Amino acid sequence: MTEKKQTVEVKAPKIVQTEQWHGYATKPWLKKDRKKVTVMFNFLERRKSYYLAAYFHRKKIKFIDMGDHVKEDVTYGKLYGNRMECNPMYFTSGSMIRNLLKIEKETGLSKKEICNRYIFLCGGGQCGPCRYGMYPQEYLKVANEAGFKDFRVLIFSSDLGRTPDSKNHAFKFDLQFRIEMGIALILADLMHAAEVALRAYALNKAEAEAALDKADRMIRKAFESRLYWWKIPAALKKIGQMFAAIPRRDEQLPLIYVTGEFFANLAHNDGNYHLRRFITDEGCEVIPGSFTQRTLYDNWRRTVEANRGIRYAKDPEEIKFWKKSLKKQRTSTKVITSIYNKYCDALQPASFRARTELLNLQELADLARKHYHPEIFGGEGNLEIAEAIHLAQEDAVDGFISSKPFGCMPSSGVSDGVQAKVLAMFPELNFLSIETSGDNDVSILSRVSMLLLKAKQRHAQKKESGSQHQEAPVLAVESPEAVSDAAGKEQFA
Ligand code: SF4
Repeated sequence: MTEKKQTVEVKAPKIVQTEQWHGYATKPWLKKDRKKVTVMFNFLERRKSYYLAAYFHRKKIKFIDMGDHVKEDVTYGKLYGNRMECNPMYFTSGSMIRNLLKIEKETGLSKKEICNRYIFLCGGGQCGPCRYGMYPQEYLKVANEAGFKDFRVLIFSSDLGRTPDSKNHAFKFDLQFRIEMGIALILADLMHAAEVALRAYALNKAEAEAALDKADRMIRKAFESRLYWWKIPAALKKIGQMFAAIPRRDEQLPLIYVTGEFFANLAHNDGNYHLRRFITDEGCEVIPGSFTQRTLYDNWRRTVEANRGIRYAKDPEEIKFWKKSLKKQRTSTKVITSIYNKYCDALQPASFRARTELLNLQELADLARKHYHPEIFGGEGNLEIAEAIHLAQEDAVDGFISSKPFGCMPSSGVSDGVQAKVLAMFPELNFLSIETSGDNDVSILSRVSMLLLKAKQRHAQKKESGSQHQEAPVLAVESPEAVSDAAGKEQFA
């Protein structure tokens, strides 16, 4: 018997993709248009962009400081963006669209004219295993979908919009801009540390808030001056004295540590439900999050990569490349830590109970190594795990919160999985993991309230037994060189 052959008819696809899709392009901003164009920018939270505005002011570049992220941004981001992004992507792209639509409404300009006269400057990736690498394309996608065709975007650490004839570009991410951006971020960290300390301990909160407003204005004025290198420390000295004179209560409040994904941890606005302000208003002290610390982590991470590159280099050329990278990280770490220390010396944060110590990243990596290998990069890497182990071992805090955006790959997907093991090792750690989504405040903050209640009970028990902590032990940075030199060397031993 012969088998009957079956034939299947295969239809040709209607649309045949013949070319590789290269993504959206962005045209450069050329010198001849320098005066015509306004830069729109924000970066995580209002203080960072408020201080950075001093740079544009001095350079006589027209700018719009877009300030804090607000809940509405998520709606705009979701409306025009891709599905299944993490919410920092929706917050940041949505904020750009909200402001573009506002400009359209207020000025009456056409979308085309707005694209010629405005440009968006922000952070974004093209690196790492998480969605951070998708940010540049997503900004352009969102702008195009909202009708702002060919809108231009400038992004730090991305070559988007850069062409070989960069000498004709109106704006460059040059050394001066990078240093001034670093200064703005450090100043914002210090003022945030001051804010959470004063909110928690000041007897009169309105007086503390007025002093903080005044301090913001003093810093911006000092930064706008050409002599900012000298004027900022002088302003910080006066600010420190002003803060120290604010009457405050003389007792240790329950101490809460907040960590987590970069945006969910450090936005200090609707992006993380004003989490630290909420905690201080509930009668607890919160350890401030620090962008400077996160930047130092990036340097540390690149140092580990460079040491590994040198070890496994295939030829002298490759060794040369990695040595250059190593030198760059060492210099950057040195510059950041010396500016940070100089400003701390001027401000004297301890005089008003502000916590500004930086952690030793190598020691943290060593603590976490068994549970989260320090060479698994992406998001916050080993940091959340290392911080939990460090603080649990020392019994240094009354509550520990890990905040991450809904659907974050490194933080929700990886760190929280490992955190289960850390909790099994330290069941007494009062731990809470929250996923921020841009809405749902009531449910998230009520969970935080439960953690705070438990923290207050633990704190009262410790006080009764006399084991109350006065200072959270820190793994302070010894010297930038020591950290850079140590980073990643033992991994291969
Ligand atoms: S770390 Fe998480 S939230 Fe942040 S960009 Fe990556 S995936 Fe998104």
